[in-house]
Amino acid sequence: MISTKSVNEPKSFCGVPGRTRCCLHPVAPVAYIFDCFKSAFVRIDLKSGRHFTMETEQPKTLVGEKIWYDVHCVIRASETYAIALILDHESGKYCLISFLLKEEKAAIVEECQLNLKKISADANWGSIQQDANGQICGIVYWRFLDKATRFHAVRIDVDESGMISNDILANNCRLEGAWHLPTFSSNAIVWLPFCAEPYLFVLNVSYDATRLCIIKVENHSENWPLDGSTWISPVVADDKAVFYTFNAAKKLAQIHCLDWKEKCWRELRVDANDHIISGSSVVLKRSQDGKRFLHGECSNAFCSAKAHISVI
Ligand SMILES: [Zn+2]
Repeated sequence: MISTKSVNEPKSFCGVPGRTRCCLHPVAPVAYIFDCFKSAFVRIDLKSGRHFTMETEQPKTLVGEKIWYDVHCVIRASETYAIALILDHESGKYCLISFLLKEEKAAIVEECQLNLKKISADANWGSIQQDANGQICGIVYWRFLDKATRFHAVRIDVDESGMISNDILANNCRLEGAWHLPTFSSNAIVWLPFCAEPYLFVLNVSYDATRLCIIKVENHSENWPLDGSTWISPVVADDKAVFYTFNAAKKLAQIHCLDWKEKCWRELRVDANDHIISGSSVVLKRSQDGKRFLHGECSNAFCSAKAHISVI
């Protein structure tokens, strides 16, 4: 029997334009978008599409311009918390901050400095991911042209009062060569070779960075993303890493998954339309019931929404 409820559920709502970060409530149909310009969380009801800008407490230990790398939402003792991974540009310090999310307010519970300083590099990035075992992990990495990649990975735990503890998995480790788009699988971090599409090999690094191996993968995707496409940090689903790619100029959006068990790439179908989610703040997230949500700006210059949050 087909559920009329799921058939009628809207698949896309207005998002928040501009520089943003996004996380999903683990159980309720709610997304929290951090609007970097307003420095505030916007709560979006994923049933009605209603937006509400929350009164958001500002960090006290970070004084300079901040780069919000990622946010992740958890429930502890029936309270909802957002964990943010932030770089303070002025001090060069990295920080994890937990926010208690109430109906109208995001209140800071803890500002937790990582024992880590910014490194001058050609590219740097960070993300928070939940691995296949449900463990929350954070990673920061830096790339030095095509010569080397450094990374720092932590396991993040949040207790019942929203306090954060982080255990270092890999302490400022160096990898030979240029790697990007890391994914936490169950016990290893899987890296894709930078500028070596269609990624016919990956680097598998144990969580403690003591064991490294190159793994060959086959390409079973019929339509590999065109040159110049942007790849977004993946989400983990069972034995797969799922990547969203877009090419706004060609109006192309695709999803490719890297199947670790089968050691191959597969392409998943995306409902293509004129409203390709693109730009510099695109985020792919997976809800607890397995739905994939994409948030970011719209490529259609005439779109009145300007940004979307969509199930793909
Ligand atoms: Zn649009």
